[in-house]
Amino acid sequence: MQDANCIFCRIAAGQIPATLIHEDDHCIAFRDLSPQAPTHLLVVPREHVVSLADVTAWPLGSTLLAACASVARAEGLVEGGYRVVTNVGRDGGQSVFHLHFHVLGGRPMAWPPG
Ligand code: AMP
Repeated sequence: MQDANCIFCRIAAGQIPATLIHEDDHCIAFRDLSPQAPTHLLVVPREHVVSLADVTAWPLGSTLLAACASVARAEGLVEGGYRVVTNVGRDGGQSVFHLHFHVLGGRPMAWPPG
């Protein structure tokens, strides 16, 4: 764990329960506590990075996106399609300041997002 006050670091460390659906050396994926779609997963790096705004040249980014695709496939979302979102900062609507990708599926998604 890298930030004892960070809820996603604590989930990654096994200190707070979550419905884990994937874990590897680089990231974890678990179900969102407040799902906004029939399937709503969060893909989270083990490393504490605040948001995408802190990512420059970062090979882990491709690993995270590959994990998004992998969990979406495992959850049966490929045929219907799905959305991957990361919120950044105040205007982006970020509420947990540890980088995460939302993987949402199981219903049609509106565009533009609210
Ligand atoms: P964001 O608003 O983009 O920062 O997304 C944070 C997400 O984390 C929200 O969708 C929350 O519902 C979710 N969340 C917060 N705490 C937990 C938790 N303990 N377990 C699972 N999901 C959580």
